[in-house]
Amino acid sequence: MSSSFDFNPQPRRASIAVDVGGVIVGGGAPVVVQSMTNTDTADIDGTVAQVAALHRAGSEMVRITVDRDESAAAVPKIRERLERLGLDVPLIGDFHYIGHKLLADHPACAEALAKYRINPGNVGFKAKKDKQFAEIIEQAIRFDKPVRIGVNWGSLDQELLTRLMDDNQAKGFPLTAQQVMRETIVQSALISAELAEEIGLPRNRIILSAKVSAVQDLIAVYAMLSARSNHALHLGLTEAGMGSKGIVASSAPLGILMQQGIGDTIRISLTPEPGGDRTREVQVAQELLQVMGFRQFIPVVAACPGCGRTTSTVFQELAQKIQDDIRKNMPVWREKYPGVEALKVAVMGCIVNGPGESKHADIGISLPGTGELPAAPVYIDGKKAMTIRGTNIAGDFERLVSDYIEK
Ligand code: SF4
Repeated sequence: MSSSFDFNPQPRRASIAVDVGGVIVGGGAPVVVQSMTNTDTADIDGTVAQVAALHRAGSEMVRITVDRDESAAAVPKIRERLERLGLDVPLIGDFHYIGHKLLADHPACAEALAKYRINPGNVGFKAKKDKQFAEIIEQAIRFDKPVRIGVNWGSLDQELLTRLMDDNQAKGFPLTAQQVMRETIVQSALISAELAEEIGLPRNRIILSAKVSAVQDLIAVYAMLSARSNHALHLGLTEAGMGSKGIVASSAPLGILMQQGIGDTIRISLTPEPGGDRTREVQVAQELLQVMGFRQFIPVVAACPGCGRTTSTVFQELAQKIQDDIRKNMPVWREKYPGVEALKVAVMGCIVNGPGESKHADIGISLPGTGELPAAPVYIDGKKAMTIRGTNIAGDFERLVSDYIEK
């Protein structure tokens, strides 16, 4: 039976490229990884440390909260400190309610930021909303900065929602409440972008996002947004949650959208576990892009899940060790060995799939399963290269991986 279904990723949706402090978003550029700090921006030391950690982990731009005078005053100092550390990472200011005032009162902050993020749902207060939105856009024009118009389900423009609900009622309810909500989100982003362009901000200075916390709504909203505009799009599920739930809830819709060619930059918004590592969200974003074949950041370690044929934990420990070593060494390897990101290592638990999977990797090992002889064949570039025996199979294989990379 033949099928006309195309399993390959769709061509990237055509979008207008936006330069964010030297990082290009949209226009066919590789999908950009970004993240956000959770420090008080007024805490300069803490914010510099976290921006540096996020950037070193692979965040190509980092958003910081600018919520009051103290944080706005800290922004140029943070920028300066990062430059002194040799970190040229674009900083994005996240503004709510008083962004217009903070940008006007703190020109050094307006200059130091590479982009302003504003939320049309709470850009200002009621009657003055349009005026305050215009003031932010004028600052962006003055300082030649791009703006992300970031609509969020949790702070939706209530006037627009009420208007669209009334329209729907007047027409006899052709749309469900959920459809009206989706339409409001999309229209909120598009109307604000139109307004920004009318004020004079060029389209190549505008990025749009429309974040919701329900996966199906997110897919629908971005599909609608992408069909109705050519603005560069920032993808992300808001309030994704913690741990594996947050990772799955973000990866599923973002993967589906990117497979359809939608999305120019992504953020995986994970709630860190208490004391947890903020850089986890950067790692997840990179891994999502890498497993889907859109970008390469770090060598892949393929490992089988293990089963009743592996009663020892040697192969899990080895796979983890190799993965950790690679992560630790990548900053140096990336400089020294261009192309190392494309490397594939396999660590397999037994003879059933071990040799086959190892042959598909650049370097792979098939560890002995329960009842097998204590010998581990190693495959390099698709061919069996040697067999490791003895009590230090894991250590010997680690050395072989390092030697392979160096060669
Ligand atoms: Fe089990 Fe062997 Fe398959 Fe790993 S490769 S899952 S150990 S059968």
